[in-house]
Amino acid sequence: MASSIRPRLHECPTKCSGRDQSRQAPLHVNEFARLSASARAAIGDATHSVYRCNYCGCVYLRLSDSNNPLGHLDGDIDGPGWHSKQYPCLMEVFKTYLFFSDHDQGSPYLIDTIWHRDSWWLVGSWLQSNATGERTPERLVRLSGLAYQEVQGQSYRFLLNNSIPKAVLDGKEQGEYVVAVYPVLAQIRGPKSTH
Ligand SMILES: [Zn+2]
Repeated sequence: MASSIRPRLHECPTKCSGRDQSRQAPLHVNEFARLSASARAAIGDATHSVYRCNYCGCVYLRLSDSNNPLGHLDGDIDGPGWHSKQYPCLMEVFKTYLFFSDHDQGSPYLIDTIWHRDSWWLVGSWLQSNATGERTPERLVRLSGLAYQEVQGQSYRFLLNNSIPKAVLDGKEQGEYVVAVYPVLAQIRGPKSTH
């Protein structure tokens, strides 16, 4: 069968075995949010021309005459997330505005908030490496599933509707709250440099 030399714009640019057009879909807004900040910046206003191959996870910009791969986005639940040499993922930290129900009532707090796997998490504490100064989240409380709002034009991104016990952020399991300890960072860190 003769095939055109022209790039097949409707196929996955990695030429994976699922490259067929039927597996190529515009990137969903929830998927876009999971890309690194640099990848999102590279996409800029061209969000309408970003596609993802739902077979291999390749995310690419569809240009007029070629597809430009940006990286790979793994599955929502199991995958460790975004992989890209060109646009690596640095952990982005947002803030959640909240009140404690058992501490300093009436005073708002801004709590660090990260995206991990399929959820937003409040960071109760950080570990700091003495060698590198790098911070790693330690205790987490799941924000997704609680009543909160995403806000615009503020220094914080989220607003928790109800006050939360400080004890939960300190790691104490309680009621509806999902408390977790951040998994071994090596498992979710980007690929090690081979240079
Ligand atoms: Zn593919």
